[in-house]
Amino acid sequence: MYCYIKDILEKEILTKSDIIKLLRCEGKEKEELFAKSAEIKEKYIGSKVWLRGLIEFSNICGKDCLYCGIRKGNRNIQRYNLSDEEIINVAMFAYKNNYGSIALQSGELEGNNVAVRVEKLIRNIKELSEGKLGITLSVGEQKPGVYKRWFEAGAHRYLLRIETTNESLYAKIHPNDEMHSFGKRLDCLKSLQDIGYQTGTGVMIGLPFQTIDNLADDLLFMKNFDIDMCGMGPYIEHADTPLIHASGSLLPLNQRFDLTLKMIAIIRIMMKDINIVASTALQTIDPTGREKAIKTGANIIMPNITPAKYQSSYKLYDNKPCTEEFAEDCQNDFETKISIANTKVVYGEWGDSSHYDKRVEKT
Ligand code: SAM
Ligand code: SF4
Repeated sequence: MYCYIKDILEKEILTKSDIIKLLRCEGKEKEELFAKSAEIKEKYIGSKVWLRGLIEFSNICGKDCLYCGIRKGNRNIQRYNLSDEEIINVAMFAYKNNYGSIALQSGELEGNNVAVRVEKLIRNIKELSEGKLGITLSVGEQKPGVYKRWFEAGAHRYLLRIETTNESLYAKIHPNDEMHSFGKRLDCLKSLQDIGYQTGTGVMIGLPFQTIDNLADDLLFMKNFDIDMCGMGPYIEHADTPLIHASGSLLPLNQRFDLTLKMIAIIRIMMKDINIVASTALQTIDPTGREKAIKTGANIIMPNITPAKYQSSYKLYDNKPCTEEFAEDCQNDFETKISIANTKVVYGEWGDSSHYDKRVEKT
């Protein structure tokens, strides 16, 4: 049996049944899996991580995803929207501290005002940083024309998680209406890729009703879609969301954590040169979660640089850490933490996915 996993790990292409075996492996076999993904990361990426200073610039959202703490229907949070000046100040903090890139994230709002505002912010940040600060966006589903405007303004990476690739599971964790359609989300992802963004997606792991079979399909979807970046994390309950009522069927948190590490390891083996995020949700379950993800195959960290006073209101799930990394002296602490995984934090570089260059060359 031990040899069997070893054989799978030597294969060029993994089948669905291989992936399911890897997702189920334990003990020595799991160690083999993690050793293989670490070896591939070392070979294709090196012992490095790149930074995206995360700016959660607004928790106002027009959608009602059943799992999310900042969903429109949650009346128990204080809504905020950083001013343009606040956003630019934080972006300049990232620039001056040599983060290399920022990620602008928010609840989802459509419309011309949002389109114009984000475009202006991208242009200002690009100008003030002399084009040196890379910009990743994660502001949900938008019209193709809007994605295009933002791309032309200078944003070059976009993260839009598909959440789950199983349509019937998607329907169980979202309201059943046009605003929350699986087809629309998929179309958005395609249009991001067509426009030319380095395109990232991912799923939540350990959702109610989710099976190992679903997770294997998610990994195959990412491979077939030819993504450039992957952001996956464990699903964590939020008491003020409708999905809390399905908590009875959940895996314990430590098993969701473990499954997430396996998903990271497997996607690293399947897609050797993509960027993989070590998600904050991992850190919520285990304070050294990010480091474990890096060791296993992740190469991107998103330190939260949102001004501390807003962080507690961007509460997607219970116990989300307020990292308060928006302080210059945190940089040392940050490097020390990462050094646990014998990893070098690369400052001042965009840290683009080399998979993207190869994908674009092919087309
Ligand atoms: N609104 C944008 C969107 O949905 O793409 C971007 C912000 S949204 C808060 C970012 C991600 O948070 C979602 O894609 C989802 O995977 C994750 N998320 C939301 N609620 C979560 C929960 N309870 N547990 C884990 N992740 C969650
Ligand atoms: Fe809004 Fe994104 Fe949360 Fe859905 S996941 S409710 S779109 S912030």
